[in-house]
Amino acid sequence: MSKSAVVDPNPPPAAEGMNEKILVVEDERVLRETLAYNLTRQGYAVTTAADGKTAIALARQDTPDLVLLDIMLPGLDGFEVCRLLRQEMRVPILMLTARTDEVDKVVGFEVGADDYLTKPFSMRELLARIKAHLRRERLVREALADTAPRETTQTLQFGDLVIDLDRREVRIGTQVIVLKPKEYELLVFLAQRRGRILSRDQLLEEVWGWDFSGGSRTVDVHVRWLREKIEPNPAQPVRIVTVRGAGYRFEG
Ligand code: CA
Repeated sequence: MSKSAVVDPNPPPAAEGMNEKILVVEDERVLRETLAYNLTRQGYAVTTAADGKTAIALARQDTPDLVLLDIMLPGLDGFEVCRLLRQEMRVPILMLTARTDEVDKVVGFEVGADDYLTKPFSMRELLARIKAHLRRERLVREALADTAPRETTQTLQFGDLVIDLDRREVRIGTQVIVLKPKEYELLVFLAQRRGRILSRDQLLEEVWGWDFSGGSRTVDVHVRWLREKIEPNPAQPVRIVTVRGAGYRFEG
């Protein structure tokens, strides 16, 4: 067995009606097969790729519901695959990284994965995260379907900062600020709770759909990116302030 993954001797029972498609991209054969075996047991429809080029082709063909993507791959690496998929489709991407110093890059603007796991990881944790992402994606799709026919205009305004919820557009004055999806969702979540202290765990759970703690760097990285885009002086933030030992607060 690969040292990179641990097969849980007592995995949770397969849930009914889960036939969501997961694309597993991993060049290490043992780990790839271990992942495929465990995900199939959970009731997912699993396809696998051993390199980036195959992964892109399979994703185009099968439109998976989630992509599990290793970073170190022959040819196109995981970063490149993630960037390409992001341009083409809306799909949660969970990256597997062997190095913690890659985390900023993984969740940052450049690559834009939804989540990551550092090797070695437990199968139980991986399954919990996959489940959370798929659940969240279902909710987002339902919400999008619900709101599609409406023609209301809903905006949040804080001085010259305007968040247009219908157009998913953020402006400062007349300038449109380009945000990646998670940055936008985080900003809206904070802005709708103006003045309230929100902990990193709370933000992870509500914005990323993680039902566990320990990924606070993801929140910090996104706050940093947001500040660079919406703060008059990112070094001395006045819109999204840090509350020491507690989290973040949107001031307006
Ligand atoms: Ca690899």
